[in-house]
Amino acid sequence: MSISKPLLTLEEVHAHYGRVHALKGISLAIHPGEIVALIGANGAGKSTALMAICGIPRPSQGRVYFNGQEISHLDTDRIVRQGISLVPEGRHIFPRMTVRENLDLGAFLRSDRDGIAEDLEKIFALFPLLRERTKQLAGTLSGGEQQMLAIGRALMSRPRLLLLDEPSMGLAPLLVRQIFTIIGEINRLGTTILLVEQNAYMALRLASRAYVMVTGQVTHGGGSEEIMRDDVIRATYLGG
Ligand code: ATP
Repeated sequence: MSISKPLLTLEEVHAHYGRVHALKGISLAIHPGEIVALIGANGAGKSTALMAICGIPRPSQGRVYFNGQEISHLDTDRIVRQGISLVPEGRHIFPRMTVRENLDLGAFLRSDRDGIAEDLEKIFALFPLLRERTKQLAGTLSGGEQQMLAIGRALMSRPRLLLLDEPSMGLAPLLVRQIFTIIGEINRLGTTILLVEQNAYMALRLASRAYVMVTGQVTHGGGSEEIMRDDVIRATYLGG
């Protein structure tokens, strides 16, 4: 793993919301094929880290590299075109549009019809339930189904790197397990994943490596098993 070039690198990235200094110089690297977890308490800056990779907000200092190219100065649509896709916290599907329309929106930057049709089939294979519901208004789906739709929509841009923000949020344990199984499957099919999760235990079981964030900074980084064995991290994020 360490001999491959990172797919994504953050070097001392800072981000602000007005006067709020949300990221205070975070550095991390994700290699092709990995699932990496980003864990930490509420307000630590995990969502901001994912958003800053996508250029919203744009880093106020530091650099983001994707596939060897600096992307920190690019607009979000250019970043998506490079192969990064975000599933935001709270899903943000379009409730008055159908499942199919939501999925189509995920491909709005693409014009390769055959590729889009192929990806739609792959998404229906991952989430058979979405195939049955193509004409249903997205707002009438359950929370778990909406999460599946949000992930499916993000996959429609055929990303090399998928950024997932709290996919387990608000879901019953059985659904959380299902979603995590599917995230593992997406990774096995070739997509690299950066996963932000409150459910640190599930995230660390799925990811090979993890970073821990505390108040805008990365305080630990390492193999998931090593992170799980750390007494302070166990006490703080894993319930002892
Ligand atoms: P959570 O798990 O609660 O989402 P998080 O680790 O993802 O937490 P962020 O949402 O990235 O943390 O928030 C980091 C800091 O930035 C917090 O202090 C938060 O209040 C602040 N913040 C986030 N979004 C905004 C915004 N749009 N405007 C101003 N401050 C913000």
